[in-house]
Amino acid sequence: MSARDADVAVIGLGTMGSMAAWRLTGAGADVIGFEQYGVAHDRGAAGGESRLFRTAYHEGSEYVPMLRRAREMWVELTRASGRPLFTPTGCLSIGLPDIDPMRNVRASIEEHDLEHETLDPDALAHRFPQHAPAAGEIGILDTAGGMLRPELAVLTAAVLARTAGARLFERTPVLAVEPEDDGVAVVTAERTWRARRAVVTTGPWVRELVPSAEVTPKPIVLTWFAPIDVRAYHPGVFPAFIRDTDGHHLFGCPVMDGVSVKAGVADVWPPLTDARELTRDLPEDAIAPVMRSVQRFLPGLHPSPIRHEVHLDGYTADRTALIGPVPGMPDVIVLAGFSGHGFKMAPVFGSIAADLALRGGTGFDIARMDPARFPARFAPGGGAAPAPADH
Ligand SMILES: Cc1cc2nc3c(=O)[nH]c(=O)nc-3n(C[C@H](O)[C@H](O)[C@H](O)COP(=O)(O)OP(=O)(O)OC[C@H]3O[C@@H](n4cnc5c(N)ncnc54)[C@H](O)[C@@H]3O)c2cc1C
Repeated sequence: MSARDADVAVIGLGTMGSMAAWRLTGAGADVIGFEQYGVAHDRGAAGGESRLFRTAYHEGSEYVPMLRRAREMWVELTRASGRPLFTPTGCLSIGLPDIDPMRNVRASIEEHDLEHETLDPDALAHRFPQHAPAAGEIGILDTAGGMLRPELAVLTAAVLARTAGARLFERTPVLAVEPEDDGVAVVTAERTWRARRAVVTTGPWVRELVPSAEVTPKPIVLTWFAPIDVRAYHPGVFPAFIRDTDGHHLFGCPVMDGVSVKAGVADVWPPLTDARELTRDLPEDAIAPVMRSVQRFLPGLHPSPIRHEVHLDGYTADRTALIGPVPGMPDVIVLAGFSGHGFKMAPVFGSIAADLALRGGTGFDIARMDPARFPARFAPGGGAAPAPADH
C-alpha cells in the first residue's frame, strides 16, 4: 500500500463539495479537495445570487426532516460566519389547492406540524397584490422559508474547511478517480494523490469521473426584472415564491441588489449531452417564456429582464439525488443529480457525505437516493421526460 496524502479527497468544491469539506474537517478528518475552477465560480449549480429555501415541500413531505435540519444549519452558519447567508423572508406557494405540488405542501405541513399561513384567494390578493390572482388559487406561506446566498455560502464553507486544516486546490481539474487495494487514487495533471476514500461532488460534470452516474446536465436560465415600485418587492414585504398555474412554473426572490427581482421559469433549455457544451449566450427566444409568465403573474415588474444568467444543474430521471457509494467502488462516495432543488439542503448533504466517508453510514434516510437504483442510463432527449424543474 502507498502512503496516503489524506483521509478523504473531495472532488468538486461547488455546493456539495464545499459543504462536505467543511463537515469532514468538523469531524476531525484530514481532507484534500480539488476544484476545476476557482471556489464559488459561476459556471456550475451554485451561481445566480439567490436560492429559495422551503420546508413545506412541493417535491414531497419525506424531505421535511432534512429540510428542518438544513434550516438549523443555515442559521448556525449565518451566525457563525457573520455573513448574510440565509434571509428568513418566508416562502409563498401559489396554485390551485388540488394540484400535486400544493398537495405535497399541505402533506408536509400536516405530517410535520409546520408553521404556516393559508391564504384563500381574497386574502392572497389582499396580502400579496404583487402576484396577479388566478381563479381559485390559494397561497400557502411557509413561515420557515427564505432565501440563501449561494456563492457566499460555498465560499464560507470552503473558508471554514481551510481554516480547519483542509488543503483545497483550485484550478485543479481531477482527471480520474481510481480504486486501489485500500483506498483511492486521485489523478490530476500534476500528480496522483492517495486517500482512504473519495467524495465525488462534481455536479453536472459527474459522468466524466463516474460514468455510471445517471445524471443529465441541464441549463437553468435566471432573469432579473426591475419593479415599477421597488419598495413593494423588498424582503420584508415580498417573500420568496413558487407558483404553478396553467403550466407556468414560476419562482423568484425579493430584491437583493436594490433594483431588481429575480424570477425564473423551468425547462427553458433542453438537456445537454455534455456539461462542457453549455453556452452562456442566450438566444432571444429563450427569454420569451419567462417574459410571458412575468407579464401575466407579476404585473408590477417591467416585463423585459434587465439581466440574465445561465447555470447548470445535474438531473436524474426521478429528480432525486444520487447519494452513496458508486456501484463496484465502495470507497468512492458520489453525491450528484440534485435536479434543480438541492441547494437548500446542502449543509445536510455535506454532513451525510462526511458520515458516509468516515463511518460508512448516516442517520438520515437516504434509501431512495441509492445510486444503484437506475437499471439503465437516462438518455438526454429520450426515456422518461423530466417534469418541470423545482427550486
Ligand atoms: C439556476 C439554478 C437555480 C436553482 N435554484 C434553486 C433554489 O432556489 N433552491 C434550491 O434548493 N436549489 C436550487 N437549485 C439547485 C441547486 O443549486 C443544485 O442542486 C446544487 O447547487 C447542486 O450542487 P452540486 O454540488 O451538485 O453542483 P455544483 O455546485 O455545480 O458543484 C460541482 C463542482 O464540481 C466542479 N468540478 C466538476 N468537475 C470537476 C473535476 N473533474 N475536477 C474538479 N472539479 C470539478 C465544478 O467546477 C463545480 O464547482 C438551482 C440550480 C440552478 C442551476
